[in-house]
Amino acid sequence: MSEPGPEKTAVDGLPPLRAVIEKHSLATKKSLGQNFLLDLNLTGRIARAAGDLSAATVIEVGPGPGGLTRALLMHGAAKVIVIERDARCLPALEEISAHYPGRLQIVEGDALKTDFAALAGGEKVRIVANLPYNVGTQLLVNWLEAEPWPPFYESLTLMFQREVAERIVAAPGDGAYGRLGVLAGWRTDAKIQFDVPPQAFWPPPKVTSSVVKLEPRVEPITADGKRLSLITQHAFGQRRKMLRQSLKALGGQALLDAAGIDGARRAETLSIEEFCRLANARI
Ligand code: SAM
Repeated sequence: MSEPGPEKTAVDGLPPLRAVIEKHSLATKKSLGQNFLLDLNLTGRIARAAGDLSAATVIEVGPGPGGLTRALLMHGAAKVIVIERDARCLPALEEISAHYPGRLQIVEGDALKTDFAALAGGEKVRIVANLPYNVGTQLLVNWLEAEPWPPFYESLTLMFQREVAERIVAAPGDGAYGRLGVLAGWRTDAKIQFDVPPQAFWPPPKVTSSVVKLEPRVEPITADGKRLSLITQHAFGQRRKMLRQSLKALGGQALLDAAGIDGARRAETLSIEEFCRLANARI
């Protein structure tokens, strides 16, 4: 009797991801931050972290060969919209779309130039993504600065390098506290869900990754996001300096006086509420 051959299909009835990558010659490109997840158990865990998807439209940035996309569909997402920049991945995504008729919309394009609110089309969406490292932070900042608030999304479930995830969830006094922590804490409740080791990816990156979930707060402190972002950029750009020095270009001591904050303090000691006061101060 002959040995059983390699599995031809995965749990969802589609070919295993390694076979998909081979069939479509998807050699990974570093310039596009391509580290693919090949384990459907793990992508399933990310999909579950996003919550009940049965009534949800999910937007996924950077589906690549579709490991996470398949998990989202398998876990019952009513509709998934994917945005992929690398045209080589589109045939693999079309195969998934054929397997789940009417549930997968494929958009070829650059996520940084995408109007996500327009794509959501008035539906509340959940955004789920294993983000390309080179654009992940910028995308997150764009979503955090979304107007009007509450935003067009119900949640963001995103994979980052562990070090970036720690910055997102950091609180005052933490070594990782900075612009990302202020922006995320200003408008959302952000929590690290779990870590993902380098071996889970192809090719393995050098560092551990983490999945972070951010849920919008309905009533965040009122502040102009762009101004908050600018102030935190200056304040943490010279984080060891006193604020009267690091904020000099934005008004220095006069700005701090208007917000009622001691100019001898350092950025890492300020609460999010105090940063919002600085963003709202007029001089
Ligand atoms: N989601 C897949 C997974 O988990 O295996 C792939 C994740 S890989 C880290 C990032 C993906 O984002 C790649 O498929 C890459 O081509 C795509 N990408 C990179 N820059 C992009 C951009 N600006 N807009 C849309 N997709 C992008």
